[in-house]
Amino acid sequence: MVSRDVLFRECVSLMDKNGIDSSYFDTLCIFQDIFNERNPLFRPLENVPDDKREIILNLVKRRTDGYPLQYLLGQWEFYGYTFRVNENVLIPRPDTETLIENILEICGKNNLKSPKIADLCSGSGCIAVTLKKQIPDAEVYAVEISEKAVETIKENAELNNVVIHIINADVLKQETALSLSGLDIIVCNPPYLTQYDMDTLQKEVTFEPSIALFGGDDGLDFYRKITLLWRKSLKNNGWIAYEFGDGQHDDVGKILGKNNFYNITFSRDTQNIIRTVTARKQEEL
Ligand code: GLN
Repeated sequence: MVSRDVLFRECVSLMDKNGIDSSYFDTLCIFQDIFNERNPLFRPLENVPDDKREIILNLVKRRTDGYPLQYLLGQWEFYGYTFRVNENVLIPRPDTETLIENILEICGKNNLKSPKIADLCSGSGCIAVTLKKQIPDAEVYAVEISEKAVETIKENAELNNVVIHIINADVLKQETALSLSGLDIIVCNPPYLTQYDMDTLQKEVTFEPSIALFGGDDGLDFYRKITLLWRKSLKNNGWIAYEFGDGQHDDVGKILGKNNFYNITFSRDTQNIIRTVTARKQEEL
């Protein structure tokens, strides 16, 4: 038998030895999950039953092999809501919360109370579900190519008690774009890593679906294709909002300009990186 305190320190040290920067935080999350307590260290001297110890050490082992903490826990938080995550979906990132802020600001400033919104490349559904939570009268569509990810979107909509429309389709196909029209807002955090990025991924990221990461040789395939294909699905003066990678803002802005979008506005994420763009569709004559 071992006490919680001793086991905790053993786990942190195992992670430290294996170069996990967030060893204390990760160990705490695992303890919280396994003991189902908010503060498992409030009882440091309590003995840990052998079976629990084994489960914990096994999780720590996988974590030290680079497996993402979020997948180990099976859930993660985004914009204050809980989302189920698994290897079929990209792990929701805090950077993406900037996109949510952008859309809420657009809706607030323009008094859009029941906007029709499409979230393209929806993944876990974190954007679509969060927008529906924040704008309850919105009509939200989540479009996602992966059948397995679609299952996760369904789970996440249910978990958060919202009803959204889920479409299992390829956003890069014209017929998919044609199936939605009169949209006020298109929001999209597409795969945007370059071939070079894919070849030099951080260990954790190699466990995420490559289909959710790879954006073509220069990382910009989705911006080029979606901007062109989905333009028609937007109302005149409707908005498009993209997330992109560090340093891609100029290229994404140019793609929008070329496709007759105006008011091209960039935002920075919490790390001060230019992370999103919003733009409006020029009226078609
Ligand atoms: N929309 C999801 C997210 O922002 C998934 C994005 C993706 O798979 N590229 O987390």
